[in-house]
Amino acid sequence: MKIIDILNKREMSLSFEVFPPKKESSFETVEATTEEIAACHPAFMSVTYGAGGGTSKYTMEIAKNIMDKYNVPTLAHLTCVSSSREAVHEKIEQMKQLGIKNVMALRGDLTPELEKTDPSTWDYKHATELVRELKEMGDFCVGAACYPEVHPDSVNQKDDLTHIKEKVEAGAEFLTTQMVFDNNLFYNFMYKIREIGVTVPVIPGIMPITNANQVERAIKLSGSFMPQRFKSLVDYFGNDPEAMKQAGIAYATDQIIDLYANGITNVHVYSMNKPDVAKTIMENLSNILGKDFNR
Ligand code: FAD
Repeated sequence: MKIIDILNKREMSLSFEVFPPKKESSFETVEATTEEIAACHPAFMSVTYGAGGGTSKYTMEIAKNIMDKYNVPTLAHLTCVSSSREAVHEKIEQMKQLGIKNVMALRGDLTPELEKTDPSTWDYKHATELVRELKEMGDFCVGAACYPEVHPDSVNQKDDLTHIKEKVEAGAEFLTTQMVFDNNLFYNFMYKIREIGVTVPVIPGIMPITNANQVERAIKLSGSFMPQRFKSLVDYFGNDPEAMKQAGIAYATDQIIDLYANGITNVHVYSMNKPDVAKTIMENLSNILGKDFNR
């Protein structure tokens, strides 16, 4: 099933993200956790490509496994900046063979090694190029990333918004945001993106922080703003793992409920291979999910 068809249903839903194993030896552990998350029957699951510590090697395998075993639609991520055109095309062909229908087209981060090289020698500079090629090469539903707090490489927000619009014009059918901890930043971004004429669904990304150590990593990774309300929670409960986990899940659930109540029907949860977190959030929303309160 294509993700755009799920989004167009306008029913309250959640999607979860998983990442492939760091090492071959942990493949089975990751496979088991992704299966537990799939058993929660989210609207779809995304599988990252070389992000969050995972490798890019198993993205497609995991995505196909979730689809075949659990009938949960999957979104396979693909990055391009550090790859040759030939290697990217090979991946796209593999996706077609595996029956993968949904792809998140990403540039990927610029590594220090890559930054030392001449950009004119790179086969890809921006995600837009990958979006365009995916649309040309197969019948894919393509998603792309966006950044309510502006991508760190951007000159300014206006410029960043222009490039997001280009990704949509190249064929991206939906956008997923970088993690946000303050919903007002997301609402503000929605206003700006609609104002420049981007009409595709935008899925807010919510990261449940379940231990204090995760906070620093999440800020480093995303540069996202942490509201005082969230910082107080980490300060107060951070030293008690069980309390922190409960408080972090409650905070994320509260964000999701606020998003639903403001007309956002699909929310993406950066569930980070944690089935217990995915299950608890699903339970917290059991009387809300799957409904259309506008009917
Ligand atoms: P782009 O859309 O290319 O944008 C990158 C920067 O270039 C922005 O500042 C943009 O404004 C600018 N830009 C775009 N087009 C142009 C242009 N034509 N001229 C000048 N400037 C331009 N990383 C992974 O490695 N694996 C993953 O699985 C992964 N999943 C992600 C999922 C989501 C939802 C998000 C939000 C991020 C994810 N990332 C992942 C991280 C992502 O790869 C990085 O944030 C990366 O630095 C930018 O990727 P992008 O696709 O947004 O790039």
